[in-house]
Amino acid sequence: MVRNCQQINPQKYYLLDSAQISDVQAEFDVETQRRKSKRQSWCCALCGAYVTDESQHVHINGSLEHRKINPQGYTFEFRSFKHADGCARVGAMTSEHSWFAGYFWQFAHCGKCKIQLGWYFDGPEPFFGLINRQIVQCPEEKSG
Ligand SMILES: [Zn+2]
Repeated sequence: MVRNCQQINPQKYYLLDSAQISDVQAEFDVETQRRKSKRQSWCCALCGAYVTDESQHVHINGSLEHRKINPQGYTFEFRSFKHADGCARVGAMTSEHSWFAGYFWQFAHCGKCKIQLGWYFDGPEPFFGLINRQIVQCPEEKSG
């Protein structure tokens, strides 16, 4: 009779408590993730001008990050973004040496300081390829 109160009830409360804690934790994680992805934006590494948002990060050929070698032997590591408002597209579109089958490309420069940030690829899913070392995460106060 005593056993029912002292052994089953504490266990029941324990289960309830841990369930509530994990619910709160899950909500917190989702909220943190949402805020983080909303706030995080990318700026030009040279002049600090706004380039694009993390929310524009897009999979191309199943990947967010790419590593390609140009005909001169230089290796480029870059991320793919659906839009990059801070970029100016420069030069003629060409399919020559395109790293992505079915895509034309042209240069993408910083709209402010004009340094090359990467390329614009036009094809089935147009995107900007922005070179990792040419873009940095914007300071918090600029993106908020
Ligand atoms: Zn710039």
